[in-house]
Amino acid sequence: MLQIEKISKKYITGDLEQTALDEVSLNLRDNEFVAILGPSGSGKTTLLNVIGGLDRYDSGDLIINGISTKKYKDRDWDSYRNHTVGFVFQSYNLIPHQSVLANVELALTISGISKVDRKRRATEALEKVGLGKHLHKKPNQMSGGQMQRVAIARALVNDPKILLADEPTGALDSETSVQVMDLLKEVAKDRLVVMVTHNPELAEEYANRIVKVKDGHILDDSNPFQLDSESMTPPKHETMGKASMSLLTSLSLSFNNLKTKKGRTFLTAFAGSIGIIGIALILSLSNGVNTYIDDIQKDTMTSYPISIEAESIDLSSIMASGGPGAMHNKELNHNLDEVYSNGSTLEMASTMTSSFTKNNLTEFKKFLDNPNSEINKYIGENGIIYSYNTKFGVYTKDPNGTLVNTDGSTLSDTKDSNTTMNNGMPPMPPMGPMSMMPGMSSSSNNFEELLPGKDGVLASPAITDSYDVIYGDWPNAYDEVILVLDKNNEIATNTLYQLGILPSSEYKEIMNKIENGEAIKIENKSWKYEDICNKEFYMIPDSDTYVKNSNGTFKSIKEDTTEMDNLLNNAVKLKVTGVVRPKEDAKNASISSAIGYTKALTDYLINYANESEIVKAQKDSPTINVLSGLEFSPNSDEDKVKDAKKYLENLGVSDKAKFFKNITSSMQPTGGSSRPGAPSISTMSEAQLAGMLDEYLKSPDNDTLLKIYDAYISTGTYDENMSDFGAVSLDAPSSINIYTDSFENKENISNAIKDYNANVSKEDQINYTDYIGLLLSSVTTIINVISYVLIAFVAVSLVVSSIMIGIITFISVMKRTKEIGILRAIGASKHNISQVFNAETLIIGLCSGVLGVVITLLLLIPINSIIHAVLGNDTVNASLPFVGAIILIILSVILTLIGGFIPSKKAAKKDPVIALRTE
Ligand code: ADP
Ligand code: MG
Repeated sequence: MLQIEKISKKYITGDLEQTALDEVSLNLRDNEFVAILGPSGSGKTTLLNVIGGLDRYDSGDLIINGISTKKYKDRDWDSYRNHTVGFVFQSYNLIPHQSVLANVELALTISGISKVDRKRRATEALEKVGLGKHLHKKPNQMSGGQMQRVAIARALVNDPKILLADEPTGALDSETSVQVMDLLKEVAKDRLVVMVTHNPELAEEYANRIVKVKDGHILDDSNPFQLDSESMTPPKHETMGKASMSLLTSLSLSFNNLKTKKGRTFLTAFAGSIGIIGIALILSLSNGVNTYIDDIQKDTMTSYPISIEAESIDLSSIMASGGPGAMHNKELNHNLDEVYSNGSTLEMASTMTSSFTKNNLTEFKKFLDNPNSEINKYIGENGIIYSYNTKFGVYTKDPNGTLVNTDGSTLSDTKDSNTTMNNGMPPMPPMGPMSMMPGMSSSSNNFEELLPGKDGVLASPAITDSYDVIYGDWPNAYDEVILVLDKNNEIATNTLYQLGILPSSEYKEIMNKIENGEAIKIENKSWKYEDICNKEFYMIPDSDTYVKNSNGTFKSIKEDTTEMDNLLNNAVKLKVTGVVRPKEDAKNASISSAIGYTKALTDYLINYANESEIVKAQKDSPTINVLSGLEFSPNSDEDKVKDAKKYLENLGVSDKAKFFKNITSSMQPTGGSSRPGAPSISTMSEAQLAGMLDEYLKSPDNDTLLKIYDAYISTGTYDENMSDFGAVSLDAPSSINIYTDSFENKENISNAIKDYNANVSKEDQINYTDYIGLLLSSVTTIINVISYVLIAFVAVSLVVSSIMIGIITFISVMKRTKEIGILRAIGASKHNISQVFNAETLIIGLCSGVLGVVITLLLLIPINSIIHAVLGNDTVNASLPFVGAIILIILSVILTLIGGFIPSKKAAKKDPVIALRTE
């Protein structure tokens, strides 16, 4: 039972006030067929909409089953429309992109009825209206009468108590009108049907009550319903059930809608995906670059160790102070109006001196050897390499059979400069043109230890990976060495002379020509690999080049050819086992000498030296120099005088002569003013000179001897001697190379060293230059800055694209206004409406995300080939990380949802009546 009590409704459009309903009162029975007749504009539709809860009344009351609707909330109205009322419109108002069945199901869908039930009930309803065979047609594939019957089936599917029909036959011919009217009459048997019409005949024929309306007033009622308060049943609030729709339903609703507009949906998704593509591409590129950097880091870390030298200069602190050029480039922090001081030179000097450090590697090695040290966790697969300075000589015969010392000393004519060196005499600077030239100094070292690998491997992969073996193999034993060529298979000619591959006589000729200012032309020669490999090198440990004198001291026999020949006959022969050349893109082609030997030789030499007589002797008398028999550090002047005398007495004849010559020339005030009559020193024989020294030593004066001691006799130190003898203490490496596998572990090692430094005394602290860190950290910063900038660009494009998506959603909402009206009419709540539109943007967002990722993946194929072509290699590979792709899709969905949020809210707020009126 419906009571309409003095309901008024006005429409105000601009200045015009239109009264659609003017205090209309009307009671409707639970079961009757009411026809509302009236001319156009008389307020029929408005009345129907008010009854159906689609429109709100301004004043009066609508009482449903004795309960006022004055306090109805939106939710109550939605539920009322969905469960109690069914609407049929003149223009059918079917949703065009849904099938007939889906249209009918819609009302059930909104009430949250299960899919199976929905289908069954909708089919039943359609069968009832005689359309059981047209379930899967689209509305536009049907006739008007059929469409109206679909609309009736939709109105009835929820089995409502009230059916409201607004001119249901208005658009139909008379024949189909009759069919529809018959149907309505049938329907009216067990419910209230209110039908608006302006066809009096139809009203007369079918309705059992006719209400005439004009200008918002009721003119006539053929069968009024007087309520008598006694017979009234007590007010009954019927549970009308909830109007709710699952997310899945709204998704499928939107999905079907989008399916009918594939082209537009694709374009929308594509527009939305552009931002995603941008981000995805940047992500892929920076991912590629980052992987590349990581690889480089690992490569770098495995090839370049943290190097700690026993003696080092801390370049980083000099760099930090700005380097030598800093004082000129320093920013001026004062005006140019007075005289100012500039202390940078002094500051620089202080940094320079404080930057020069000695590291106590003996203590540090103890720390590294301790298995409990934290640092061990970060050591890479190449481990820690300790290097020791071992000394040995390598000799060979040149093609003419001349003995050659491979350090180049036999090539130079500065023989005498080296002779006294090992006797404790101050060495004189090497002379002659060859020693002045770079790479030709007499002490060039053509032998170098190869970086050892882990587990006893003699050549580290860090080295072997960077070289091609072009003949033979890497050395495998202590007496095996390898020849190292440059990228063009070449070796410097002077090195070839030093190694005795070219005859040394030829070299001397060349040098003479250079000295005489003649032009020289070096012809290019070549050798077969096996010819070079067959060459024999004789290795003589330094400890072997000393023999014991009769007085218990030792002397060097390096200049004694017969002794040296003897040694050579028993020397270890070094075999050249192979020839290597740096690879094209070698990262660590770090062997700088022509011949590489292995750690095995170093170990052999360390043992050999420790077992030698001279090293043992020196170890037994740590305070006395076994070469001179003098104390390393005499305590008093008397001792020094004694030592000086002893030293001079023990010299050989030629050494005595040389010394005497030296000393007299330096003691005479000026050259040439020698006493007249006295024989000139330069004309005297060695024996005479030696005799004069002996004569002097018979009654020497202490002052002179003390002066001689201080000026000419350096006793050296124990350590210097040991090193000259080739002895090495395994506890005192000359350098420590620590390898890690990652940049991170390198940082950890740096920190571990910092911790170590914090725990030891100042002298034992370790200083080293972290070149890799300096190099790589700035690179990473640059890369980071670039990625941030790119990401900022992309963020802008993302914002733009989400605005675009917002606009597109907005337009789509406008286009679907009618649908919103229909949905509201059959009971969809505002929430349902925004849900449907959110579902649509969700689908679009998902599509654009997936589309963006797919397009990116496709674009990456040509992009990568371009990168490879530009770089000339395939080290950088742009690739979209999986997690990144997922995040981007989610981001796209979120952004589109945000973009579509406002339009969908707006859609939900649309007045259903206005929505329905739009075409
Ligand atoms: P009927 O259905 O009888 O033709 P309506 O109920 O549609 O009449 O309209 C009643 C009156 O209210 C008409 O004068 C119409 O112009 C006016 N009217 C209806 N809807 C609106 C509206 N949304 N805004 C302004 N005036 C309206
Ligand atoms: Mg109307």
